[in-house]
Amino acid sequence: MARGFVYLVATPVGNLEDITLRAIRTLREADLIACEDTRRTGRLLRHFGIDKPLVSCHEHNERARAAEIADRAARGESVAIVSDAGTPCISDPGFRVVKAALDKGVAVVPIPGPSAAIAALSAAGLPTHRFLFAGFLPARKSKRREALLSIKKTDATIVLYEAPHRILTTLADIRELLGDRPVTVAREMTKLHEEFLRGTAGSVIEELRKRNAIRGEFVVLVAPGGDDPQAAPGTLQTRVEELERAGHRRMDAIKRAARERGMTKRAAYAQLEGARARKPGASASPKESPQDPPRAAPSGN
Ligand code: SAM
Repeated sequence: MARGFVYLVATPVGNLEDITLRAIRTLREADLIACEDTRRTGRLLRHFGIDKPLVSCHEHNERARAAEIADRAARGESVAIVSDAGTPCISDPGFRVVKAALDKGVAVVPIPGPSAAIAALSAAGLPTHRFLFAGFLPARKSKRREALLSIKKTDATIVLYEAPHRILTTLADIRELLGDRPVTVAREMTKLHEEFLRGTAGSVIEELRKRNAIRGEFVVLVAPGGDDPQAAPGTLQTRVEELERAGHRRMDAIKRAARERGMTKRAAYAQLEGARARKPGASASPKESPQDPPRAAPSGN
């Protein structure tokens, strides 16, 4: 019997122009489209003039749907999986369908495109050679803090998704548990109010606290800890300055900041001097003001 395909089709995270030609063709040619929210995907499809049968597949019914979708694909149908936005399976449903399809010998084909994590990482200004995608941290305080501590020592840039009502709490936990490291907060990417807040966890908290309301979708990126040469100088320097402002003599501040990071005083001193030498005349603080929103960025979904 001819076997069909399961296509994982990435869709825009805001700007509808970010859909790929291949995504449009795949959706147009599919026998069935499985999506999280049929109304939302219906709007996307209408925008591209596509009319296809839709079936819902979300976190509450994915287990049952996975078997159905895999069966239909095994009988020869082409099924496209989409999520509300971005790449299916990335903090979104899809994994169970992929697993069920593979178990039945159905080919699973990615149709790559937008994903908030990768878009944010590419523009964050933090090391990109190694990153750790941690998705959404647990909502419960103790679990969230446990999760952060478990990745504290990674030498990778940490990429997190966060909801607007928890962003300040998460940044405060990051500052407390991981140290006042460089972070980038990417908000509303590809939409009208896109912005990147770059600074340390503390400075971004200060910036967000000035606002009347915190709205939109957020990705939080945290610089690696340890002694990653691309990331650590700002963190160490910020902490040393903080201690100096609190009345410590410079060498005592360096000693203490070094101890907090598990470094020797000599290594910390060398890193601070190295950072100073690499950036002659540059400001000591990595804090930047938020970017202006891009002009005429059409907002989708
Ligand atoms: N599968 C999606 C992807 O590939 O990006 C992610 C889905 S997850 C349920 C949704 C989260 O992604 C949001 O809560 C937010 O953290 C992040 N996100 C999605 N779109 C975004 C955007 N335009 N700007 C910033 N973050 C975004």
